Amino acid sequence: MPMLDSSPLIDAFGRVHTNLRVSVTDRCNIRCFYCMPHENVQFKPRADLLSFEEMVRFVRIVAALGVNKVRLTGGEPLVRADIEKLVAQLAAVRGIDDIAMTTNGILLEEHAQKLKDAGLRRLNISLDAMSEATFQRIARREGLQRVLYGIAAAQRAGFEKIRLNAVAIKGITEAEIVPLGRFAREHDLELRFIEFMPLDAENQWQSDQVLNGETIRTLLEAEFGLLTPKDRLDPSQPAMDYAFADGVGSVGFINPVSQPFCSDCNRLRITAEGQVRNCLFSTVEWDARALLRGGASDEAIAHLVRDCVKHKKPGHGIDSPEFIKPERAMYQIGG
Ligand code: SAM
Ligand code: SF4
Repeated sequence: MPMLDSSPLIDAFGRVHTNLRVSVTDRCNIRCFYCMPHENVQFKPRADLLSFEEMVRFVRIVAALGVNKVRLTGGEPLVRADIEKLVAQLAAVRGIDDIAMTTNGILLEEHAQKLKDAGLRRLNISLDAMSEATFQRIARREGLQRVLYGIAAAQRAGFEKIRLNAVAIKGITEAEIVPLGRFAREHDLELRFIEFMPLDAENQWQSDQVLNGETIRTLLEAEFGLLTPKDRLDPSQPAMDYAFADGVGSVGFINPVSQPFCSDCNRLRITAEGQVRNCLFSTVEWDARALLRGGASDEAIAHLVRDCVKHKKPGHGIDSPEFIKPERAMYQIGG
């Protein structure tokens, strides 16, 4: 049998890809307006979604090409049945030394301990608002209290350095910034604000809805005092982190719109139906599912991944007049 070429996944701009986001489902239990349609969501038939076995095989192949971090996302990863079994299987893949998950936290209370026991190392929990009214305006469902219970359960289960991801939207979340800061500081959570990107299913994104990182920083400084930039230890890490003046906690800003970080991007993605993407904003996909289900060899699948990496563009170009919004919305890609 030919040996798998195990050289790293380097693109045409020298970026080494070591980080894979695996979307495990396109389904979700809420309907954030920046991600999903409100009603009548056209989910993919279940048979189209990769099985755990297929996902694990894909991860095993890319791990041999240097990928060492996997993040499970979706849709909402906790609505996929038996997700802990997938975590345990991925934790056993040689070369994968970090498994993380991004979740909306609604089902976390019942899953936290099982995820920890299965080998999940890190959790990002999405929370944009501390008031139920704003939460519902964004999520178009109830759920704030359950997210808060989920965060508490994750801490009880022993997850450390839990991140809170907050999408910031002009005209909607300004009044939430300081309460989120206070909550994160009080509960030892790493707060990250993320700019609203043009990946909503209803095509409503407008650049003037982006509440940018600089504005949020000013709001936080007015309440908590000067924020001091922290050293950036890992350049592929998109957040710019700051320490609060009194030394309690930190806050990060992920500014893909106002300050793109594409030049340091080391991420690859596979959608829930097995399409490999080299960028959130890709308009092209590489069909790994066809190979996984068509009896292809590991080498053929590795070749497809290399081809995808080879075609990665230098940047997303959101601010360019030629920018084309991807057909897929965030829940269909995996954020
Ligand atoms: N359902 C999980 C959750 O919400 O955490 C995981 C999937 S979600 C698509 C992943 C992350 O993408 C979340 O933090 C969410 O807030 C963020 N997100 C979704 N749509 C976005 C958009 N248009 N702009 C910026 N962030 C977005
Ligand atoms: Fe669901 Fe996450 Fe999308 Fe919100 S951002 S609709 S929680 S997948």
